Amino acid sequence: MKNILDLHTHTISSGHAYSTLQENIKAAKDKGLKYYGMSDHAPGIPGGTHFFHFKNLSVIPPMIDGVRVLRGCELNIIDENGIVDLDEDVLMSLDYCVASFHTPCYSTTHTLEDNMSAYKAICNNPYIQVIGHPDDDRYPCDFDQLAKMALETNTLIEINNSSLRPISSRVNGIENCRKILEACKKVGCMIVLDSDAHISFDVGNTDHTDALLAEVDFPNDLVLNYNEDKISKYIKL
Ligand SMILES: [Zn+2]
Ligand SMILES: [Zn+2]
Repeated sequence: MKNILDLHTHTISSGHAYSTLQENIKAAKDKGLKYYGMSDHAPGIPGGTHFFHFKNLSVIPPMIDGVRVLRGCELNIIDENGIVDLDEDVLMSLDYCVASFHTPCYSTTHTLEDNMSAYKAICNNPYIQVIGHPDDDRYPCDFDQLAKMALETNTLIEINNSSLRPISSRVNGIENCRKILEACKKVGCMIVLDSDAHISFDVGNTDHTDALLAEVDFPNDLVLNYNEDKISKYIKL
């Protein structure tokens, strides 16, 4: 199947990524993507973006060199109530948001109940469309419950290519992504394959996710990357 989008990428604005927006868009075009999602880290990540970055995204043309550019953000989930680190007036100006747990912003001492409570609030947040890398054993997750909540709230669950790398800092990514895919398949929950690129060479990279999808025989019609007609159901175009 042809992958046409990547909703999770970072530019130099994130502070620990190494390519510009234009370099990433060129890479997206070279890979044959039709949609490029820019999702720099929200202000909670040290050295990352100021909220002015997100307030000013309207200067970016929606179409660059034949690629539809989507203006997004990777939010940090701050607590078990699903509070995130950008105000609602900023969120409503974006095309979409990913929300994820990251160690500088959310302690790994939280319980499974805390994490599921946070995910429930995230799924019910109208400005958040993607649960970012819920595949990390440092943040225990009930995947069946998450898939059900995501399905009911029209939220996408991300299968993150970077989590599947041997060098990933996330714990048990492969095993957990396998379980997430099984849970999504069971209830019919839509997923999105994302690169989580921190350098242009990785934009649109699904080398690890492709193998896992084949292994669990995951249905193509539940993968947003392969279904252009379903994108507007999730993302503000
Ligand atoms: Zn990052
Ligand atoms: Zn992340």
